[in-house]
Amino acid sequence: MGCFDVVLLRCPTCGEEYPAQSKGAGDWDMDDTYYLSEAPDDVLTDVNRHAPFVCTCKTVFQVDVAKRLVVKLDITPEEAERRQVDYLMPAVNALLREKLN
Ligand SMILES: [Zn+2]
Repeated sequence: MGCFDVVLLRCPTCGEEYPAQSKGAGDWDMDDTYYLSEAPDDVLTDVNRHAPFVCTCKTVFQVDVAKRLVVKLDITPEEAERRQVDYLMPAVNALLREKLN
């Protein structure tokens, strides 16, 4: 199992593919790329770590892991970015500590 996997999500509005990174933050080295329907369960458990995702068409969405579906969220892209920052900071700090050891 690699360190970085990517799950390709389809925007529920425009259908554009959005690469959601799983396992690992701030690094685009990737080992495997999956479509949502075929991604292994252990990859999917982590797929929302950068959620909510914002498409170029401004649709905000995340993954319903149990159903393997992309679900649209009724929030603005600005609100989504605030949530990303809140959610990411502890993960980034933990990763930095790991690399220093
Ligand atoms: Zn879109």
